[in-house]
Amino acid sequence: MTYDLVIKGGRLYDGSGLPSYLGDVAVKDGHIVDTGRINGEAKRVIKADGLAVAPGFIDFHTHLDAQLLWDPIATSSCFHGVTSVIPGNCALALAPCREKDRESILGSFERVEAMPLSALRAGVDWEWTTFPEYLNRLRGRLGVNVASLMGHVAIRQFVMGDAASERAATPAEIEKMKIVLQEGVKAGAIGFSTNQNPVHMYADGRPIPSRLATNEEIIELACALGEINKGAVQISRGSLGVSVPMVESVNLFDEIATKSGRPVIWQSIAHRWDRPNEWRELLDLAAKSLAKGAQSYPLCNARLFNNRFTMNNAQVFDDLPTWKQILFLPTEERKKVLREPELRKKLRYEAVEEKKSSRFSRRWDLVYMIKAATAANKKLEKKSVVEIAQIRGQDIIDAFLDLSLEEGLETQFQTSSTNGDEQAVAEIIRSPFTLVGQSDAGAHLIYDAGYGYATRLLGYWIRERNVMSLEEGVRKLTFMVASIFGLHDRGLLRRGMAADIVVFDPTTIRECDPEMVSDLPGGEKRLIQKATGVEMTIVNGEVLVVQGEHTGALPGTVLGNGNGAAFQAAA
Ligand SMILES: [Zn+2]
Repeated sequence: MTYDLVIKGGRLYDGSGLPSYLGDVAVKDGHIVDTGRINGEAKRVIKADGLAVAPGFIDFHTHLDAQLLWDPIATSSCFHGVTSVIPGNCALALAPCREKDRESILGSFERVEAMPLSALRAGVDWEWTTFPEYLNRLRGRLGVNVASLMGHVAIRQFVMGDAASERAATPAEIEKMKIVLQEGVKAGAIGFSTNQNPVHMYADGRPIPSRLATNEEIIELACALGEINKGAVQISRGSLGVSVPMVESVNLFDEIATKSGRPVIWQSIAHRWDRPNEWRELLDLAAKSLAKGAQSYPLCNARLFNNRFTMNNAQVFDDLPTWKQILFLPTEERKKVLREPELRKKLRYEAVEEKKSSRFSRRWDLVYMIKAATAANKKLEKKSVVEIAQIRGQDIIDAFLDLSLEEGLETQFQTSSTNGDEQAVAEIIRSPFTLVGQSDAGAHLIYDAGYGYATRLLGYWIRERNVMSLEEGVRKLTFMVASIFGLHDRGLLRRGMAADIVVFDPTTIRECDPEMVSDLPGGEKRLIQKATGVEMTIVNGEVLVVQGEHTGALPGTVLGNGNGAAFQAAA
């Protein structure tokens, strides 16, 4: 047999977690046809001496639903060895969607995932109504593979119209939602996502529809997947502990997994400054669920959740009522009220003194000024607000607000509310059952860029911090994800599997710092992120990216239960 491609002389990390070994990989017709010592002829030979060869990484938490329409290779994910992406997370999705609901659906992404509405309007072409039609829009125009969840927001809006963001569903409406979901999954969706995070809302402050779902509705929808024995459930309820304690949410995740018999991927375990030991408790609870046989998997993040903001555009203070109210005011009015001493007292109370749990850590020593808007303040860059307050001889809040006001509210700050304690993060990602990766690729476009979760895990946590073996790291990024999400022919270097492969240098692999570019539809800004040490990303046997450069190939496909076949036959 003449192979299409042979990768020669690399060290194979096959995704199973077994010890790596020196060997070759042979590819034909998009599949791995052999591994070991390959001697046959090949149309193309890739030399991989000194390099690691692994299954392509599967980014299971993305919001690339819209971006894939104008960016089929899913930058920046593909630069980090990602060969398959899972959009449709956190209840947000672009299908199903009737014409009259289009603005509302785009609006559901706008604030929750911080995407400019103008870019969404310019970039989403709406060639679909149903979910199968959305998948069909993607088919044939993809660089990476896409396996999509169906979002609860879209399903609810489709069945209930605008009442979806106002009330609970009736039993008849829940029945209809179940049918829409089952039809989507039969056509190729890989499950269902839902979201009750209390800070997730439209730009005007209304809750997104999935927040109005009762636990019964969520369980019914999960059981709709159980009835057809297909699909996973992704769920986020926020971790504020204000309305629902996280521990109570984990019990619900366990109940969903137990009643439906389907895997539940829940968000998330992280270290938090306001509840520094909660992560241990959550790891224990997850272990208990798994021990009794429920497929309930927590996800976690390999990086700090860096949040960049200015006082012109900030979401970090959303849990603090006075701050939130002021950040929704028109800019000029905001500038005026921020000077009032009485108001500052309230702001100081909420952001410094109050003890109530909040996504903002109140650790002003961890809030850094990253970019001054005026030359005079350049010297303060990289300093924390606590240091800046000392330099200016002011109290923290006065220093922070006066500095922002002097610069027309354009001073850029950065903070990480979660995952600030490295020891804790190491313990969380080391757990054999946590899913690593919460990239939110395609979301929070100017605040953060998490595309490089895999390169960070392999470069920082494994090479530099030695928290687990490289074999185990690769397992977490590949086979584990493919198994939980039911992607049966992905995630392993093994004969018969799809040839999604990444070739990387374990001695140099690393994520780069994010960079701001203006390449969104309509010229809007976003952060991108490159990588070092990723030599080649191969999708379905074709080389997609070489050292950060797209080859022009579009070998991606829509993955899923029917893998298109059932839908194509029906269409
Ligand atoms: Zn998300």
